[in-house]
Amino acid sequence: MEYSPADEILIEEKWQELVEACRKAKICRRDDDWQFVRRAYFLAKEAHKGVRRRSGEPYVIHPIEVALIAVREIGLGKKSVVAALLHDVVEDTDYTVEDIAHAFSPKIASMVDGLTKMSGVFNADSSEQAEYFRKVLLTLSDDVRVIIIKIADRLHNMRTLGAMPHNKQIKITSETIYLFVPLAYRLGLHAIKSELEDLCMKYRFPEEYAAIQQKIEDTRGERQQYIERFMAPIREVLDRNKFQYEMTARVKSVYSIWNKMRRKEIPFEEVYDLFAIRIVFKALPFPSEKTQCWQVYSCVTDIYTPKPDRLRDWISIPKSNGYEALHSTVMGPDGIWVEVQVRTERMDDIAERGFAAHWKYKHASIAAEEDGLDKWLKKVRDALNSPTENALEFLDNFKLSLYKSDVVVFTPKGEPQSLPYGATVLDFAYEIHTKIGDHAIGAKINHRTMPVTARLNSGDQVEVITADNAHPKAEWLDAVVTSKARQAIQDFLKREHDNNLDYGMELLQQRLAEHNVTLSGRVLRKLMPAYDCRNKDELYSKIGAGIIKLDNLDKLLKENSSRKILKFWKLLIPGSTVEEDADIDLDDEAVSLDDTVVAEDGDEPEFVMAECCEPIPGDRVVGYRDPQSGRIIVHKSTCDTLIRLAAQFGDNIIKEEDIKWSQQKAVSYLASVEIRGIDRTGIILDLTKLITQDFSINMRAISVQSHDGIFEGTISIYVQDIDSLNALLDNIRKIKGIDRVKRLLNT
Ligand code: MN
Repeated sequence: MEYSPADEILIEEKWQELVEACRKAKICRRDDDWQFVRRAYFLAKEAHKGVRRRSGEPYVIHPIEVALIAVREIGLGKKSVVAALLHDVVEDTDYTVEDIAHAFSPKIASMVDGLTKMSGVFNADSSEQAEYFRKVLLTLSDDVRVIIIKIADRLHNMRTLGAMPHNKQIKITSETIYLFVPLAYRLGLHAIKSELEDLCMKYRFPEEYAAIQQKIEDTRGERQQYIERFMAPIREVLDRNKFQYEMTARVKSVYSIWNKMRRKEIPFEEVYDLFAIRIVFKALPFPSEKTQCWQVYSCVTDIYTPKPDRLRDWISIPKSNGYEALHSTVMGPDGIWVEVQVRTERMDDIAERGFAAHWKYKHASIAAEEDGLDKWLKKVRDALNSPTENALEFLDNFKLSLYKSDVVVFTPKGEPQSLPYGATVLDFAYEIHTKIGDHAIGAKINHRTMPVTARLNSGDQVEVITADNAHPKAEWLDAVVTSKARQAIQDFLKREHDNNLDYGMELLQQRLAEHNVTLSGRVLRKLMPAYDCRNKDELYSKIGAGIIKLDNLDKLLKENSSRKILKFWKLLIPGSTVEEDADIDLDDEAVSLDDTVVAEDGDEPEFVMAECCEPIPGDRVVGYRDPQSGRIIVHKSTCDTLIRLAAQFGDNIIKEEDIKWSQQKAVSYLASVEIRGIDRTGIILDLTKLITQDFSINMRAISVQSHDGIFEGTISIYVQDIDSLNALLDNIRKIKGIDRVKRLLNT
C-alpha cells in the first residue's frame, strides 16, 4: 500500500516541522548531520509504509512527533532524534537491529534496541515483563537518552489516546501513572510529567477534569487582574535594580489542583495556591547566581511579607532531580498568600527540560563532582547488578525510590553517605554492606544508642552495632525505604520461609498421619481458617516456624468444616444474600485467591469486590480478571492497587461496559465511614440509633476515640449502593455535634 497524495502532504509538513525544530535547536551543524537525520526519516517512512495508526493517520507521523518532542520539548541532540525516528522500526517492521547498525552506527542501533526492548515491558506476561524491565533499566544506566525517548514516545501516545478503546486507555494510563510519571519526575522533566498526569486524569476522570478546567477558565479574568496588581510593584523594584527578567504567573495543572482538592477535602474555591508567580532572570557573571537570587528575593520581600515557614531554598541544596530555585510564599494584596519562585535562566532551563539541559550546563560548570542524578544512576546500576529472585518486586521497589529526596549522614570516619528521605539505621547498614545489615542490632547516632528502626536526619553520624547471632525480621520491612535494604531483607526472609515451608508441610503430614489422615484440600480448608491463615503457604510456613503448634489438631479434625468462610463467600458473590448475623471479621479472612478455595459453580465469571478499595454499587469501577481463579475482581477506578495491576498486567482489564452493578437489591457491600465531631453525651447513641434503627443498616464494627472534647471514629457498615450510603451520610451530618463525615476511600 502506497501513501495517498494527502498522506504525502501531511508527512512532508510534519517532516518540515522537525527540520525547522532541529535548525532552531542548532543540533545539526554540518551537512553530515542533516544527512544522518534525513536518512533516518526516509528509513522510517519506508519501513512504516502503508501502516496507519488507529486515528487513521499514516504511522510515520508518530515517530516524527516523538522526534519533535525530543528536540523541541526536551532538548535532546541529533543521535536522539535519529533514534526517535527509528524507535518503532525494529519493533513493528522487518528491519533488524543489525540493519540499523549497518545503515547508521552501532550506537544508534543499541539505542533503538533499548527502545524496542522497552516496548516489550508491558506487553509480555508477568515474569518476562519484569525481566524486560531489568534490561530496560540496564539500558537506562548506560544511556539515559533511551528512557527519555521512551517517555517522549509515551507522551505522544497519551496525546493521541482518544482513538483507543476504553480498556486500552485504562491499561495505558495505568502504566503511565505507575511508571512514566515517576520516571519523568526523577529525570527532572517537569513539564512532561505534568502533562502526562493531566492526560491520565482527562481519560480516567473526564467529568472531574472538565469541571476543573471550566472553573480555571471562569476565574481567569479576575485572577489576571489580581496578578497584575501583585506584580506591578515588584516590576518597579526589579527595573530600578536593573535586573533583566521575565515575570509570569503559572496556574497549577488540573491534576495537581484535583489532587489538592482530594487530599485536603476542599472545593476548588479554597485551593489558595492556584497560581504561582515565577521570576526568571539573566544572571550576571558576578556575584554568584545564588547571591543574585537572594537579591531578587529581597526585592520581593521588601514589598510583601514572607511566610517564614514557607521558604524553600533549593539553590543551596538542589532537589535530587536537579531542580534549583528559591520558593517563597508572601502575603499579597487583599490578604492572599502568593507563592513566588525565583530562578536564573539556567535553573529555569533545567527545571523545564530536566536531564538534557542538566548535561548541557554540567560540562560547562567547574563542579566536576558527582551530582544527585549521577549518584542516582549509580544506585540504579548497583541495584541491577545485585540479582534478585523476584524482578516484579524489584520493579515496585525501584519505583518507590523515584520520588524520594535525599538526606546525607556520616560514617564514624566522617565519610558522607547519601540516603533517601525517611531512611533508617537499617537502610544505612545495608547501604554499607549486606552483612552489616543482616546482623544489625542497633546503632550509635551522634554517640547515642538508638534502635535499628530509628530514622536518620541529615548531618547524623551513624555507627551500626552488630551481633553475629542477629538476623533480619519481617518487621524490618516496615522500617526501610531503600530498595537495597528491602531486597536483602526479603531475600533472607524468603530463604527462611522456604525452609520453613518444606519443614512445615513435612511436619503437618507427619502429625496428620498420626491421626490416619492424609493431607488434602479438604483438610486444608478446615485448618486454614482455624489457624487464621489466608492460604496453605502461610499455614505451612507458620507451622515450620513454630508459630502454629498443632496441639489441638485432634480436636480440629473432628469439627465440621468452617461455617465462617462459606458465609464470607456468600457475602462477596453478588446474587447471594447476606445473613442477618453476619458477625464475621473480614480482616482475618481476607479474600484468598488460593486454589484451595473453590468456586461453587463455574460457568459465569464470578465478580468479587476488591477489598483494598471496597467498591459499592454506584462507584466508578474497573474489573480485573484474576488469571489464576478466573474471577473478576472489581476495583474502584481510583484504586492504587488497580493502577499497579493494570500497569503490569493490562490485558486482564475488563471493559467498563462489561461490568454492570447487579440490580438485585438484596446484596450488601461493606463501606467504611470516618466521623469527627464534638464529643457530647449521647452522641454515639444517636449515631448508632440512626444507622441501625432509622436506616436499618447492619454495622460490622465501630471504633471511637475521644480526646480533648473531640471524638473521632470509624464505622464499618453494610450498604446496598452509593445512594443509600450518601443518604445515610447526609443524615449523620445532621446529628448535633457532628462536624465531618466521609467515606474512607482506602486508596
Ligand atoms: Mn512508538
